[in-house]
Amino acid sequence: MTAPPAVGAVSFDIDDTLIDYSASVPHSLRELFGPEADPGLWQALIDALYPRYLAGGLTHEAYLRTRLAAMLTALGRPVPGAAGLDELERRRRTAAESRLRLYPDVPGCLAALREAGLPLALLSNADGPRQRRRLDVVGLTGLFDAIVISGESGVAKPDPAAFGLVRARLGVDHVVHVGDDPAADARGALGAGFLPVLVDRAGRTRAVPPGVLRVGDLRAVPALLEHVGRGV
Ligand SMILES: [Mg+2]
Repeated sequence: MTAPPAVGAVSFDIDDTLIDYSASVPHSLRELFGPEADPGLWQALIDALYPRYLAGGLTHEAYLRTRLAAMLTALGRPVPGAAGLDELERRRRTAAESRLRLYPDVPGCLAALREAGLPLALLSNADGPRQRRRLDVVGLTGLFDAIVISGESGVAKPDPAAFGLVRARLGVDHVVHVGDDPAADARGALGAGFLPVLVDRAGRTRAVPPGVLRVGDLRAVPALLEHVGRGV
């Protein structure tokens, strides 16, 4: 049996893979909407509207305004004009960023991969300036050899072109992609010829497609890649 090629680099999703994004959301909603804040409704609005932004049907600005207006309407509150919505979004973002945290397993995982000599990349579906600010807030910016964000590149996961940019910028063929989204990250990586590692912190994913490795958190990643790299 032929051993698989050694891992040449690792790319990471950002939100809910490295940054504990979900934990910051309830705080930011309470800041804006008070005790009536409903994270479930907020997530439903994201699920409905974010794909339209990623597909180019909404600018990022229009996405943010539409999401807030829909939330206010659902809560029976008046909806201000564009400037008022922008001010509310600025308050929400400030509150969210005050609670942004890396998962505790992130520094050790990145250090171990660096120690192993692996180039590292970030691959995120997000607005460029906002995501780069968040990377600064949590201290990730200087730790990666390439940062590819859909709002800047124009291509979003699971499009293989998004993964292709990582490969091109690192100049490495055999790349592992680590992310929490079974569709955008795991299936996207598989379709692009990356080795997908699904981070399933909450143990929600029932079954993973053949070819996808699953871990409960990032502590397992360095040893897993060493295993794969040896072709064992
Ligand atoms: Mg994610």
